[in-house]
Amino acid sequence: MAEATALWLRNVVQTEALETFGARAVGLSNVNGYSCRMRSGGYISEHGFANAVDIGTFHFEDGRRVNIEDGWRPNSTAMGDLTANWFARINDGACDYFQLVLNPNSDAAHRDHFHFDLGPWKSCD
Ligand SMILES: [Zn+2]
Repeated sequence: MAEATALWLRNVVQTEALETFGARAVGLSNVNGYSCRMRSGGYISEHGFANAVDIGTFHFEDGRRVNIEDGWRPNSTAMGDLTANWFARINDGACDYFQLVLNPNSDAAHRDHFHFDLGPWKSCD
């Protein structure tokens, strides 16, 4: 997970941050973090195996912060909405590095964060 996250941050998030905002991303805020909570169907979440990450907010070198709850748009190609388009591109880029990519389009539980994991299910929302 650490390697996949680092590669996604370097190859996707930084590239898109510089292109979109002209500033490097310098931090992010994890949302739910480590948890062994049960998923529907009785499975333990990939979080319980340190095999998942939830990210809600990105911090940039110019002081800007963007969070998914405010910046995500269901129609990810919102004309002229830089933040929404940025989120859409880093979401799509995550599909190259993680097995499961969930976002606010997935369900209400993910209204404020990305969930990425390397579990057995391949799905990219
Ligand atoms: Zn999660």
